[in-house]
Amino acid sequence: MFCNQCEQTAHGTACVDTGVCGKDPDMQSLQEILLYGLKGMASYAHHARRLGMVDEEVNAFMEEALFATVTNVNFDMGSLFELVLECGRKNLRVMEMLDAGHVKRFGAPSPTTMFEGTKAGPGILVTGHDMVDLDDLLKQTEGTGINVYTHGEMMPAHMYPELRKYKHLVGHFGGAWQKQKTEFTKFTGPVLATTNCVLIPREDYKDRLFTTRVTAVPGATRLTNNDFSAVIECAKKCRPLPDAPVKESTVGFHHSVILGLADKIIAAVKAGKIKHFFLIGGCDGAEPGRNYFSDFAAGTPKDTIVLTLGCGKYRIRDNDFGTIELDGVGPIPRLLDMGQCNDSFGAIQVAVALAKAFDCGVNDLPLTIVLSWFEQKAVAVLLTLLALDVKGIRIGPAAPAFISPAVFKILQDKYDLKLTGKDPAADLQAAMAG
Ligand code: SF4
Repeated sequence: MFCNQCEQTAHGTACVDTGVCGKDPDMQSLQEILLYGLKGMASYAHHARRLGMVDEEVNAFMEEALFATVTNVNFDMGSLFELVLECGRKNLRVMEMLDAGHVKRFGAPSPTTMFEGTKAGPGILVTGHDMVDLDDLLKQTEGTGINVYTHGEMMPAHMYPELRKYKHLVGHFGGAWQKQKTEFTKFTGPVLATTNCVLIPREDYKDRLFTTRVTAVPGATRLTNNDFSAVIECAKKCRPLPDAPVKESTVGFHHSVILGLADKIIAAVKAGKIKHFFLIGGCDGAEPGRNYFSDFAAGTPKDTIVLTLGCGKYRIRDNDFGTIELDGVGPIPRLLDMGQCNDSFGAIQVAVALAKAFDCGVNDLPLTIVLSWFEQKAVAVLLTLLALDVKGIRIGPAAPAFISPAVFKILQDKYDLKLTGKDPAADLQAAMAG
């Protein structure tokens, strides 16, 4: 089959020389950004649908945008760029639906003290992003004597009253996805992986790894409905977990909680007690250079607030950030964990509310956004921020391979998009200087 544009080669395989079809590097880059953004948005939309939230306009856009990535349909930078931004706008709507779906089903979030480690007895570890699966499992394990733990991006489940009402949701175990091979080996009970990011399992735990629906890895058992009896039976047979507490932590600073404190926070900013806000989070990863985020966060001054979300939080949450005093409220943690990566919706709501209170634009706020980069969902979130015209975001630890130099230059010129530097202290200083 030959390309109907250059008549030289098969569709989208080697038309670099002509620059006519979808293999033009910049066109290809925009199509890939769009595809990755759509994939990220689709995963959020899937979670939202499971909570009963759908939007026909989003669905229609997904069809249109996917159509535009067919190799010989769209060779126009301008219209592709507009689709990329529209993907960001639609992703905001999807994250809004997901947020509303979580709150409707699991109740109004609130901060809570969460146990980390394991408690003596049988246990099941739940990882991924799908809280409906967690809810179903909690119902089915009630009264069995089996404890349930969150892992990775499931940690924010503890902020929802209709999930933490289950006494056997005893706590959280482990960190970000890239540590799961070690952590799943150590956790002696079954592991239920509800979504990305799950790794192909080691031999030593693959027979006690279960996945749900679209999530599937070789060697594990894939469940296609909400019957978790196989997981429960496995938990009864597995070696019980030891009594091994690690620490207690405070989680659950959903945007509604932060906005509930908005007048006190605004007063603290006006009084000079809070000088700057940082949003540090996103998708964590294993490659070198990610200590940038830990070092950047650790260096933030004591009169600043650090918001975090996504599994990027695991890079920074072991640091003791201390508290900050709000008049009429008392001390609140300086590090506020807002939730999963999709709770970027909440971070945007907080930024918009602050901008309104200070009668300025989001770009005029003393706010610095530092996003760690890895996964398609991070692409969707970045597109949302760009579509909202948020400028000066730092991403890292490296530029995504699918963004061509020319497209990155456009993003730099239009949005002042920056890469994380080599020196987090210097970047922090620059951020504080505004
Ligand atoms: S935040 Fe990103 S990298 Fe982390 S688990 Fe979620 S999708 Fe995966």
